[in-house]
Amino acid sequence: MRDESALRLRQIKARIADAGQAARRPLGTTHLIAVSKTYGALDILPVLDAGQRLFGENRVQEAQSKWPSLTARFHDIELHLIGPLQSNKAREAVALFNCIHTVDRPKIAHAIAAECASQGRRPKLFVQVNTGEEPQKAGIVPKDTAAFVALCRDDLKLEIAGLMCIPPVEEEAAVHFAFLAKQAKELGLAGLSMGMSADFETAIAFGATHVRVGSAIFGTRA
Ligand SMILES: *Cc1c(COP(=O)(O)O)cnc(C)c1O
Repeated sequence: MRDESALRLRQIKARIADAGQAARRPLGTTHLIAVSKTYGALDILPVLDAGQRLFGENRVQEAQSKWPSLTARFHDIELHLIGPLQSNKAREAVALFNCIHTVDRPKIAHAIAAECASQGRRPKLFVQVNTGEEPQKAGIVPKDTAAFVALCRDDLKLEIAGLMCIPPVEEEAAVHFAFLAKQAKELGLAGLSMGMSADFETAIAFGATHVRVGSAIFGTRA
C-alpha cells in the first residue's frame, strides 16, 4: 500500500539506528538504499516526500524509464545500481547512476573505466563478491577479489568504495557478512554493501555501510 510506505520507511530507519547502537557503531554510518525495482514513480513519490533520497535499482533500462522525471523534481537524489551490469549497458549506467554495486569482472571494469573517461563522471563502485561461490550468481570468487580490486584501483584508477555480497538464501547470512567484512578490511576498503529486508540488522552488526532494503519499505513485489 502506497500510503503505508512512508510509515514503513520510518520504521526501517528506526531499526537501522537501533541496530547501529547495539553494535556500538557511530551514528549515521549505515546508509539506507531504498530498493525501488519493479515499483513505479507513483509508489516512489511518498517515500521521496518522506525524505528518502538514496534509491537502488537492479535494471538499467527500468531505471532510465522512471527516474529522469523524478530527478527533475528532486535534485538531490542518489541512484545506485544493485543488479548485474552488461558491458553494452555501461554507457547508460555510468550516465545515470551515482554508484554501481555490481562490478565483478575485468570486462565490465574496463567498460566502466572507458565510460568514466569519455563522460567525465566518477561513480562510486563496489566489487561484488560471490561469497557462496554459487554458479548461478554474479560476483567475483573470493580467491580472486584481491587481484581484481588491484586491477580496478591501480590499473584502471577506478574509485572502489568497498565490497558487496548477496549471501546464498539457504545459508546463515552472518557467516557471509563476516567474511566480506574481513576481506574488505584486508584490502583497505571501508564500504560494505550487504543486508536486505530479511537480514539488514545482522549486516549492520557486521559493519554494513550500505543496506539494500526493498520489500520491507515498498511491499512484496509482484
Ligand atoms: C531486490 C534486491 C534487494 C532488496 O531485496 P528485499 O528483500 O526486497 O529487501 C537487495 N539487493 C539486491 C541486489 C536486490 O536485487
